[in-house]
Amino acid sequence: MNWREHGACRAEDPELFFPLGESGLSLRQIEEARAVCRRCPVLPECRAFALRNSEYDGVWGGMTAGERRAVARGRSEDRHR
Ligand code: SF4
Repeated sequence: MNWREHGACRAEDPELFFPLGESGLSLRQIEEARAVCRRCPVLPECRAFALRNSEYDGVWGGMTAGERRAVARGRSEDRHR
């Protein structure tokens, strides 16, 4: 878990990464959070952690919760083929 110590988000307001939704006015906030993630040296570790642990909320590794759920659904469907 020490990858967290190197996250670019440590210098940001944590609220930025927890938009109220994934549409409308939240889209701008999500894009601002993604911009931080894009310059983050531990993006792969963060994204893998969030996917592995089914993080329910927030932007992790540049992905929203909805995007992570879609990835998880895709993996689940692949397992059942
Ligand atoms: S990828 Fe984004 S949410 Fe994850 S540690 Fe980096 S800045 Fe924070």
